[in-house]
Amino acid sequence: MAEYKGVMAFCEATEGKLASISTELLGGGRKLADDLGQELSAVLVGSGISSLAQEAIFFGADKAYVVDDPLLQDYQTDAYVIVMEKVVNQVMPQILIMGQTSIGRDLAPRLAFRLNTAASLGCLELAIDPGSKLLLQTKPVYGGNAQAIFVCQTYPQIATVRAKAMTPLERDQSRQGEVITIKAGLDPSAIRTKVVEKVPEKVEGIRLEDAQVIVSGGRGIGSAEGFKQLEELSRLLKGAVGATRPPCDNGWVPAGAQVGLTGKIVTPELYIAVALSGSSQHMSGCSGSKTIVAINKDPEANIFREARFGVVGDWKKVLPAFTNKLKELLAE
Ligand SMILES: Cc1cc2nc3c(=O)[nH]c(=O)nc-3n(C[C@H](O)[C@H](O)[C@H](O)COP(=O)(O)OP(=O)(O)OC[C@H]3O[C@@H](n4cnc5c(N)ncnc54)[C@H](O)[C@@H]3O)c2cc1C
Repeated sequence: MAEYKGVMAFCEATEGKLASISTELLGGGRKLADDLGQELSAVLVGSGISSLAQEAIFFGADKAYVVDDPLLQDYQTDAYVIVMEKVVNQVMPQILIMGQTSIGRDLAPRLAFRLNTAASLGCLELAIDPGSKLLLQTKPVYGGNAQAIFVCQTYPQIATVRAKAMTPLERDQSRQGEVITIKAGLDPSAIRTKVVEKVPEKVEGIRLEDAQVIVSGGRGIGSAEGFKQLEELSRLLKGAVGATRPPCDNGWVPAGAQVGLTGKIVTPELYIAVALSGSSQHMSGCSGSKTIVAINKDPEANIFREARFGVVGDWKKVLPAFTNKLKELLAE
């Protein structure tokens, strides 16, 4: 195993730019590589993505491997697994990190199988064990009620990492690195699927992941109508609306609004938690918020243990009073 060396971050692109998950992986990967005293490389796979190699270097990579081929225009499992297997066999990284995205979730386990190694999906934290120098992969288990650390004894050690779990470095144009092109060499007949149509997700207003203020509602809101009041408050605060799982399951809000273990991880400045109990599964998605404010009628609700400020009361009374006061203050 001695020939495996370095950390590799699989970088995804969106709309011609490095996706935020990619800059996060480069930030986290840089730390892992420094702890090992080894190099961090980025790998970019796609069509027309060569210009992003330099960006990956500005965000922390020592080297950027680029596989640019029209056949890689859209993510297709067959093509990407073949290409990534080739890249890994050529570069032989000790650690390969990917985002816990639809691509990462599909690619990581298939690649691990091909390479005769293992993959840990949905990690919250990665670190280097000071003694063994193996990758410590922390991820939620038992439905988010506990966290376990996994160690893989085969190389490359592959892990997917959840959004916002790692912090990007400042973009630094003075960072120098090497860009290396690898030919895809794909046989088109190896790709057994084709993309028929792409439907972009419609997001009104600010994306939950980017919002600095989130007004989140739980089961206690009771209806889609109730969530309209949360929307009004979030609009005033230039924020976004989030939810626990029950309102999403009940169709009161879109599934994309779910925050938590099986939803999104958010880290806003202000998280207003309305009529939600503060389950561990929900908190694993919002505990990184700078300030949590809770409104709940049950003084024993767990959310009060997590919140900096709290109001014990019926949200139907508290929220309109809060919203009206805010309107008054904003009008001044
Ligand atoms: C594998 C797994 C993954 C999961 N993933 C997620 C996830 O990603 N995100 C997530 O959120 N959940 C997730 N869950 C579900 C999670 O366990 C909880 O069931 C869920 O978070 C509870 O949502 P809640 O707080 O809205 O509802 P409840 O726990 O029922 O709490 C409702 C709260 O509203 C309060 N309330 C009711 N009426 C009012 C009122 N009029 N005024 C003020 N307060 C009021 C109540 O006092 C109570 O505290 C997951 C569960 C499992 C098993």
